[in-house]
Amino acid sequence: MDANDVQGDIKHVLFSKEVIDAKIKELAAQIDADYEGKDVLLVGVLKGAIMVMADLSRALKGHYTQDWMAVSSYGSGTKSSGVVRILKDLDTDLSGRDVLIVEDIIDSGLTLQWLQGNLKSRGANSVEICTLLRKPKSVKTDVQVKYVGWDIEPEFVVGYGLDFAERYRNLDCIVTLAPHVYS
Ligand code: 5GP
Ligand code: MG
Ligand code: MG
Repeated sequence: MDANDVQGDIKHVLFSKEVIDAKIKELAAQIDADYEGKDVLLVGVLKGAIMVMADLSRALKGHYTQDWMAVSSYGSGTKSSGVVRILKDLDTDLSGRDVLIVEDIIDSGLTLQWLQGNLKSRGANSVEICTLLRKPKSVKTDVQVKYVGWDIEPEFVVGYGLDFAERYRNLDCIVTLAPHVYS
C-alpha cells in the first residue's frame, strides 16, 4: 500500500461531498420539523459518526445538545454479534430527554438495537435513530430507524468518518476501495 496514494485506493465514489451536504441538509430539515419546540440530545456513536454529527448538528436550527458514546460489539471478525460493551458512556442524565442517536451506517443493526434499548432503559422520553447509510439486505433486526440518508447494497464503504483499519475516515466523500487495499 502506498500511504500517499489515497486516490489510487478508491474504486468508486458512491456519494460525493456535494451530494452528502445536500442529504445532510434534507435530514436536518426533517429533524428540526419533527422536534420543533423540544430540547433534543444528539448522541453520536464514536468514531464513525463524527462527520455526520459535525455536519448534521451545524445544519440544525433548533435547540440541541451533543454527547458521545463509544461501544464495541463482540463478534467474529467483521461481523457484529449484538453483544455490546460500552467503552465510553454518556455524561448526560437521560431522564425525560428526547434522544436522537446519530450513526454513520447500519449493517446488521444489532449494535443499534442494543443501544436504543439501553438508552430507553435510562428513562429517556424518546430514543430515535438517524443514520446516514443503511444496508437493508444485511439488517437482522426490526430496529426502527426514523431517519435514513441512503439505503445501499451490502458492500464495504469508507470515508466521511467510516474507516478501514482506521484509515479513510478523513475522506470528504463515501467510496468503495480497490481490491489491492485489502491484500
Ligand atoms: P452493526 O451492528 O449494524 O452490524 O454494525 C454497525 C457498525 O459496523 C458501524 O457503526 C460500523 O462501525 C461498522 N460497519 C458496518 N458496515 C460498514 C461499512 O461498510 N464500512 C465501514 N467502514 N464500517 C462498517
Ligand atoms: Mg457507527
Ligand atoms: Mg470501523
